[in-house]
Amino acid sequence: MPTNRIHLCLAKMSPTGAEQRYIQEAFTTNWIAPLGPNVDAFEKDLEAFIGGYHVAAVSSCTAAIHLALLLLGVGKGDEVLCQSFSFCASSNPVVYCGAKPIFIDSEKETWNMSPELLEKAINDRMAKTGKKPKAIIVVDLYGMPAKWDEITAISKKYDIPVIEDAANALGSCYKGRPCGTFGDIATLSFNGNKMITTSGGGAIICKDEETRKRAIFLATQAKEPFLHYEHEMIGYNYRMSNICAGIGRGQMTVLEDHINHHKHVHELYSSLMNNPSVSRVSINPNPDFNSNFWLTTALFNDGVDIETLCKKLDAAGIEARPLWKPMHLQPVYQNSPSFTNGYSEYLFKHGICLPSGPWVTDDDVRYIVDSIKAAIVG
Ligand SMILES: *Cc1c(COP(=O)(O)O)cnc(C)c1O
Repeated sequence: MPTNRIHLCLAKMSPTGAEQRYIQEAFTTNWIAPLGPNVDAFEKDLEAFIGGYHVAAVSSCTAAIHLALLLLGVGKGDEVLCQSFSFCASSNPVVYCGAKPIFIDSEKETWNMSPELLEKAINDRMAKTGKKPKAIIVVDLYGMPAKWDEITAISKKYDIPVIEDAANALGSCYKGRPCGTFGDIATLSFNGNKMITTSGGGAIICKDEETRKRAIFLATQAKEPFLHYEHEMIGYNYRMSNICAGIGRGQMTVLEDHINHHKHVHELYSSLMNNPSVSRVSINPNPDFNSNFWLTTALFNDGVDIETLCKKLDAAGIEARPLWKPMHLQPVYQNSPSFTNGYSEYLFKHGICLPSGPWVTDDDVRYIVDSIKAAIVG
């Protein structure tokens, strides 16, 4: 561990050094390129883990979301319905496409997109613009699966495709089915702070090989199949490198361990955090929602100032952060229409993320909970 500080979620390599062996192999065979055997094998490993889907490894989850929007034909003047309570990378790619994000608030059980507001937004936008929104971006935030039955039903009813941003949710399941399989297209992140990492990277999960091939085409500058470089459209340089994929292959050997660790940490927090000022430690609404608990979160009652709390924890060597600031409250999106119920704003004002990553020990969790209790009393 680089410092004594307790971080939210720091990368941890496998104890067997598998990542370094795959990187060494790339050096030995001189596959220092944005393609190669590590990329192919990492994709196969992910396909095996998710089961029956077609995966392309790319440079980030942000790139994967951008590609997903392009694959669904999102372009200038289109509207895309986005979960407001998320990281900016869930919705920024909508703007890259020249399209317009419309933000939807969260419901109380999973903190993800409210199906009720989603349907209201679809009807309202169709009435206002005479046009159907082109896509819906739903997030399994902090690893918690969204209300997939309800959302899928609405997507089918109005025939609007869904992109599932499963950046946080590798290893989560809804009704026994893995996250990353609910959207028409889904995306994963392997950034340094996610469940596993490739230092930086992402993946796009497609339902058929044709879509995957199209994603790779767009991610490699849209080169037409000629001997010379022929381009009929604008492409992107979004493929994952063979070096990064080597890290990813090694990380796949500890993915289950990481998931179990995050779940264990969450259980420990839940059992220790009995305090009248704590209204909720992230919980499962019911057994259908099997979260990987990428980050455990805690909600506090009125009277606990979240910023002061985070600063006190910081002084105690603990990294803690307020929950995501909803996109509909971000200055950059001030002109975007939104459908709100106040809930994500409430979450932002009352909740924090807690250290949950593979370096966090049981003693760390006890120390963090004691520090929180001391901070909200003092
Ligand atoms: C991290 C994250 C992303 C972006 O992932 P990158 O790989 O860093 O581009 C997208 N959505 C959510 C919810 C995330 O947490």
